[in-house]
Formats: sequence, C-alpha cells, structure tokens
Amino acid sequence: MNEKILVVEDERDIARMIEYNLKKEGYRTVLVHDGGFAAATVAKEKPALILLDLMLPGVDGLEICRRLKADAKTSAIPIIMLTAKGEESDKVLGLGLGADDYVTKPFSLKELLARVQAVLRRCARPADAPAPGKLKAGALELDAAKVEARLKGSPLELTSKEFELLKALMACGERVLTREELLEKAWGVDAALEVETRTVDVHVGTLRKKLGKEGRRIITVKNYGYRFDPE
Ligand code: CA
Repeated sequence: MNEKILVVEDERDIARMIEYNLKKEGYRTVLVHDGGFAAATVAKEKPALILLDLMLPGVDGLEICRRLKADAKTSAIPIIMLTAKGEESDKVLGLGLGADDYVTKPFSLKELLARVQAVLRRCARPADAPAPGKLKAGALELDAAKVEARLKGSPLELTSKEFELLKALMACGERVLTREELLEKAWGVDAALEVETRTVDVHVGTLRKKLGKEGRRIITVKNYGYRFDPE
C-alpha cells in the first residue's frame, strides 16, 4: 500500500495534515497548492489517486476535474473532491464530471482515509471484471446469474437489496466494504448520494436474520462497514 496520492489543496495547514496522515498510512504524497499546477503535476507524477479541493487559486477544482476526466491519459485516475459545506451544487457537478467520491469539510481523517482506501480498491479492479458466478460459504450458496441464494439447499426469500448486499459481501471475500461501497453496489451510484448509510445497517440486520446461523458470517467492522467471513 504505497500508492502515490496527489493532494491539490491551497490551505496549507489542511494539505499538510492530510499529507501527514496519508504518509502515516504508508502512502506516498505530492502536494500542489495552486490549481494552475495540477494538470502538469498529474502528468509528471502519475498519481494513483487525486484529492482535489474545489476552491483553488489558478484553476478551480471543477475545471481541473473536467480536464483530467476528458483526457484519455488521465481519465482513469480516481478523484475524491474536498468540498466545503454550501458547495452542494459543486459536489453534484463534480460527480457528473466523473469525480469518484467526495468528502465534505470539515471531515474526519478517519473518514477521509476510509474513502481513499475504498476508492483505490474499487479502482484497482478492472471495470469489466466478470460478475461473480456461484459463491459458497458453509450452508450458504449464491448464484449471481440466477439471482438466487440458498440456505441448506432451500431458496432464501431475500429482497433485491438484501441479495445485492449479500452478493457484494460474499464476492469480496474477507475485504471490508464501507457502507458507502455497499450503498453503491446495492442501490446504485446515484441513489447512494441520497440514501443514508444507516439504511445499510437496517438491511444488513434483516439479511442476517434470514441467514440464520450463517448470519454470523457478516461481521460488523466498527466505524467502517462490513465484511464477510467465508471460513
Ligand atoms: Ca480551497
């Protein structure tokens, strides 16, 4: 986990604090304080991820996002926007331009790091990766193609959200999925912006009950989300 992360942020205290914490997590960092230098730095440093403030001197964050996502050489680099309260419309615009996620200032470092990890993981997988076929753990079986889950051979009556949550968790092995990731997978990216992450907890709760003893395989990871225990 030593991916290079470009931090485009003109408030130097915030930039340094982000840098310090990213480095502590083992990431390499490059800081840019002026939007005008962002594009050239991306070309030179080829970061794995960009943390992009929106209000910047030189060229603003949305314009940077627009240019990077319009250029085939840089369009695949994920962007997490750092937005301030009251920049709601910018957030929507940025996501429309292809930004991958956002965090609203003031954000907790824990939240930022979780988003960074989630976006890097998501983007590390090829977009055209084959959908998981049949998944099995203990008495639990899931057939993604048939949209069918079975417990001890008997079909489970799951809602579509419960099924998608179970599929996402089983398909990711033991990897922790954040609530935001689960929302995106089960509700879709657009809805994920409006649905509260708490909703995930409610559906995981009903799903666990339906799985009986196998429900214990869905493990809560405090402050992050959930993972599946296939063992
Ligand atoms: Ca700023």
